[in-house]
Amino acid sequence: MIRIYALESTNNNSNIIICPDCDLLLTEQKPALGYSISCPRCGKRLRKRKKDSVRRTFVLSITGLLMYLPAVLLPLMTFESLGFSDSATVIESIVNFYHNGYHFVSLMVFLSALIFPLLLLVMIFVLSFNLHRHHYPAYLRTLFKYYIHLEDWAMLEVYLLGVLITVIKMVDSSEIVYHAGLFCFTSLVVISIAISTTIDKQYFWQLIEDKGVLKNSPPTPMAVDFTSKLTTGLQHKLIICHTCEKIVAAHSAGKSCPRCATKIHSRLPGAIGKTSALILTSILFILPANLLPIMKVDFLGVTDESTILDGIIYFFQHGSFFIGFIIFTASILVPVFKIIGLSILLFSTRPCAARFLRKKTIMYRWIAFIGRWSMLDIFVIALLVALVDFGFFTSVHVASAATYFCLVVTTTMFAAITFDPRIMWDDCTQSQSKSILKKHSP
Ligand SMILES: [Zn+2]
Ligand SMILES: [Zn+2]
Repeated sequence: MIRIYALESTNNNSNIIICPDCDLLLTEQKPALGYSISCPRCGKRLRKRKKDSVRRTFVLSITGLLMYLPAVLLPLMTFESLGFSDSATVIESIVNFYHNGYHFVSLMVFLSALIFPLLLLVMIFVLSFNLHRHHYPAYLRTLFKYYIHLEDWAMLEVYLLGVLITVIKMVDSSEIVYHAGLFCFTSLVVISIAISTTIDKQYFWQLIEDKGVLKNSPPTPMAVDFTSKLTTGLQHKLIICHTCEKIVAAHSAGKSCPRCATKIHSRLPGAIGKTSALILTSILFILPANLLPIMKVDFLGVTDESTILDGIIYFFQHGSFFIGFIIFTASILVPVFKIIGLSILLFSTRPCAARFLRKKTIMYRWIAFIGRWSMLDIFVIALLVALVDFGFFTSVHVASAATYFCLVVTTTMFAAITFDPRIMWDDCTQSQSKSILKKHSP
């Protein structure tokens, strides 16, 4: 990927953009195909031109919808051991949690591996179909708004990694027969990733706004006094919508965004309080999540319970260092990193610590990105419970830590969503801000 940097605002004739992570006001530049523009102050990627985005997204969404039902209804694989055999579909792996009384865990897996991926496919199909046919009904903006909010909660690719780890865990102790469902599910994951890379969100919003029922929405303010030495949107009395990134005048705060109808705020309201409360809650849950057993294995009537750490040690003892490291990273390192990382951001928000401001903003983006991968262990257990049910001989069951672990994942994901990285930059003086800008500009 070739990256260029947006220019700091210098004239009053161009469209403007505001960085959603640090609020820097910039002159909008249309990047050439294959190029992206990034914020020179915090490194956030602001725009990337994508070729033929509407048509490609439309074709991929149809393919994804055709693949969805066989992917979730057909068996993924069968485990065979000592004359016993058991196969599982994605749905069965969820139903088992529910039948064992783990309703919250089953709800989380149900939503993240089944419902949200389907909703996203349906929404992006309807959206791209309409844009492709040059139809711009009013509901498109609501559809796209929910699509953007749901994106982080669909976890097909994490589930697929869970399938891979389950296979590696069981390959020595049982015969594994792969079915068409696994092929369809893998294809579905590839299509979902392809959709997220082909969709040009800013271009989609532009079409909805320019050609749809929002023709009369106020234009992006252009006449900004760049002769002053102020650099941020807020200092120019401009704010950016958190969902669609439309720029509106500051007096619109508290009203609905003219483009996506989300309530606009100059900064996310109560960000520090909400994030602190969620982090404290996740700290309460992380102890039982790691100390209590997360899985029970019955073997010839004898029950063996294991914690998350026991599962990791199992892989290291059996020479699967890479898989052990992946589960250690997803189940222990990522939740701890999120809690410590967000705590550092909260404690150092004010006053401005210019030295690490850019690094802290990059860390925030990593925290927001990796949150969902912690669900890996839950997906592995869901598959093992469904696939290893050989009656009295041996069976796998979920244990109490699973609920606490899901609560840790959920609360830390919400903590990252409620935090607003711009408040870290707000107290910086102009000279501090300029020095970061100068240091990182090409
Ligand atoms: Zn920025
Ligand atoms: Zn908006």
